[in-house]
Formats: sequence, structure tokens, C-alpha cells
Amino acid sequence: MIKNIVVFLLLFSSGLYGQIKDGEKVKELNVVGIDEKNKILNSIYNNKSLYEQSALKIWNWAEVGFQEYKSSEEIQTLLKKEGFSLEVGVANMPTAFIGTYTNGTGPVIGVLGEYDALPGLSQTNDPTKTNRDGVSTGHGCGHNLFGVASAAASIAIKKWMENAGVKGTIKFFGCPAEEGGSGKVYMVREGLFKNVDVVLNWHPSNKNSASAGTSLANKTGKFRFSGVSAHAAGAPERGRSALDGIEAMNNMLNMMREHVGQETRIHYIITKGGDAPNVVPNFAEGYYYIRHPKPEEVRRLWERLELCAKGASLGTETKYTYEVTGGVYNILPNEVLQKLIHNNLGFVGGVKYNEEERVYAERLSLSFGEDKKNLLLSENIAPYVFDEETKGGGSTDVGDVSWMVPTGGFSTATYVPGTPGHSWQSASCSGTSIGIKGMLNAAKVIALTAYDLFKNKNLILEAKKEFNKRRGNGFNYDPLIGNRSPALNYRK
Ligand SMILES: [Zn+2]
Repeated sequence: MIKNIVVFLLLFSSGLYGQIKDGEKVKELNVVGIDEKNKILNSIYNNKSLYEQSALKIWNWAEVGFQEYKSSEEIQTLLKKEGFSLEVGVANMPTAFIGTYTNGTGPVIGVLGEYDALPGLSQTNDPTKTNRDGVSTGHGCGHNLFGVASAAASIAIKKWMENAGVKGTIKFFGCPAEEGGSGKVYMVREGLFKNVDVVLNWHPSNKNSASAGTSLANKTGKFRFSGVSAHAAGAPERGRSALDGIEAMNNMLNMMREHVGQETRIHYIITKGGDAPNVVPNFAEGYYYIRHPKPEEVRRLWERLELCAKGASLGTETKYTYEVTGGVYNILPNEVLQKLIHNNLGFVGGVKYNEEERVYAERLSLSFGEDKKNLLLSENIAPYVFDEETKGGGSTDVGDVSWMVPTGGFSTATYVPGTPGHSWQSASCSGTSIGIKGMLNAAKVIALTAYDLFKNKNLILEAKKEFNKRRGNGFNYDPLIGNRSPALNYRK
């Protein structure tokens, strides 16, 4: 149960919204400003083919972290056409940007957008596993929808502010390299969120949910071992294998798994292990992820990872260096914002399939086997819950933003129910009309939530109060990436 539920109910007892209890579905809302809200929804609806085209272009390009030049520019163009001013290349990242619209002094609302794809998830928008010719990457996390929905919401709010003479600022944050590149962390470190009152974001998913929750902090990096080459059969005594270094490190790391906290997640790949078995490798590289709910524990685990490397290097007579490639905080939830978003998500509704979409969804879900879900779940809004101990298995650089500014987020059913993230199925859905429907819903929910915040500044104050309380006194932001510059080549 939520500890703060009483506080919250008092807050919303003004009649602005119906009181929501845990698990309650929102059906009859006493929605204030219904006419204005409907106008905002219509302005998104009227531009839906434009947004669809942009999202599908970005899906087609499928550019990976820090290489998203065309995708970033596509979204910049959408905003620029509508009168947003642009700052491109912020925080020393060429594909990062901020689009701003200001209409006098007032609240500053930030909206996050992402647009990077994943390596190795090449997929057409067919409901069966089919690689795209000549493209090895894919939008398996739906970020082609993420960026465009957030831009569409920012534009709709800007138009409303202009027409209704509402004071304040809307800022779109174009955030590159979410997948392992920690793009937002550099933006936070640069102080780009300093004067922002509230940040809103969303994420593609297999369900519609605005439940409050958190995520895992992580730290990622590449360990590089160097040894001495020699003929593996002719002069093995002359060689010292860099691959042995990596393997010895991994052995120790795998033993370490038995002696870490329950919620720890450790994964690695070997990105380079030599060129030929008959040549002792003089270079080898491993790429590591360490995750835990608490950033402090991630730091401690990282030190232990380094000890594994040190021990391995001693025993194999090789040398090592490492580069931290990313690191993010866990999400600091904000219930004031989550419940507000939940209300708007209920107002907008879920994703309803037409006949063609239903056939696609049926065929796609054949690949889930026992994990097949009822397709009608895409129409439902998940009941609101908040369990502080519940964490998704993943990490996001939204985490760092959420420790700087009260941040609210949610998901819409852009994927067929049962679809796992980072899969060929999610890459496929992200290029279909199902993905587009979820994207438009997300744009609407963000826009309506921003509307509520501009209309009722008390909500912003309450969100800030909760934020300060959760963050605690004496919070000191110490990014897990340290002081390194953006790892612009981490996908090269
Ligand atoms: Zn993602």
C-alpha cells in the first residue's frame, strides 16, 4: 500500500479530479477544461499523418546511439516549423538538442524524446521473424515512436498556450543514445534541467500504464586486455593471451554472482576475442553491465568488477584498461504526477485494433507460445499501483533526470500484449499502425498532463514537495559516468 495515499487524497479532494484509489479504473472523471482538452486532442489528431510519416521514417533509418543524425533532424524540423527555437548539439553531443517555446514568465515544463535504435534487431513490420535487407539495426524499444509523440505533444501544447494566452515555457529535450549511451546524464550534468519545473515522458510498451515505480541504476563499460602474440602451437611459451585475461575475469565475475545482493543484475559480452585460434590474441575486449536498485551499490559492485580484472591480469600476465561507457540512476518516482497522468491516460483510453491489426496481432502472438496474452488487454488501462519495492528489470537515463526535477512517466500499448521489449516482435510492432496508435495516445496524454500543470500551479508545487521529500536533505548528485565526455563512439 502507498504510504502517501492520505496526503494525496487530501491534495485532490478539491474536486479537480475524482479521487483514485489503488487498483481503481478511471471511468467517470470530473474533467475540468473538457472543451480546451478536446481542442488539444484534435490538434494532435489533425496532424496524425504527419507524425506517422516521421515515426516511420525514423523506424526505417534505425540509427543507433549517437549516430541518430537524420532522426534527430527529423524531429527538429517538426518543432522548428511550429516556431520552437532550437539549440542543437547540447552537452557536447551532436544529436542532442533542445526545442523551446516561451510565452512569458510562468511554469517551465520539459518533455523528453528519444530516437535511437538497437544493434542486431533488424526486422520488417511483418508478424513473423523477417530480417530487413541491408539493415542490421532495429527499433526494438520503439524510440521511433517515443521522440515523435513527445514532439507532437509539445507542439499541441505550444499552440494552445499561444491561442489561450497561457504564460510559461514548453521545452522539448531531444535525448540521444538512451540505449547504453546515457545521453540524458550528460544533459543533466551540464545543468540543462536546472530551470525546469516538471518533466514528462513516456515509453512504448505492451500495456497502458501510469503506475508509479522505479528502475535499476547501472554502470556499463568496456575492459580491454592486452597480451603478447605468438604462434599458438610453435611458440606458446612466448605468448600471453589477452583472451585468457577476459576469460579469467569472467570466471571471477561469475563466482562473484553468488555473493551479491538479490537484486543485482550482471551481464557481459565478449566484443573481441582474437582473430585466429593459431595466433595467441594480443587484444581482447569485454563489455559489462552492472545493475542494482541503488546507485551506491552499483558503485561498490563496480569496484569489485575492477578487482576481477586486476586478479585476471596478474594471473595471466596481461595488462588491462577500462572505459566507463554509461551509468544511470534509478528512477525517483513522483506520485502526484503519476496519478495526474493516470487520470489523463484513462481519459484518452487504450489502443483499439481494427480487423487488419487484429489479424496481425493474432499472427504475431503465435510466436509467444505459452506467454500469449489476451489481445484485448491493449484496450485496457492497467490499474494504478505503487509498490516502492517493485522495480522493472531495466534501467533508463530518465533516472538521472528524475533526481533533478519532479518527473512523471507512463507507457502505452504500442506493442501487441505479451511482446517483450528489445525483441524482433517489438521492432515489428513499432513499424505498424498499432505502434502509431499507441504513439498518438501517448502524445495526447502528455499534452493533457502539461495542460493540467499549466492550469493548476498547485499541482507543480505539490509535485515539488513530494520530490524534495523523497530525495531527502543533503542530496549530492554524483553521476555514475564520472567526468568523462560523451562516449560518442560506443556503438562503432
Ligand atoms: Zn527504451
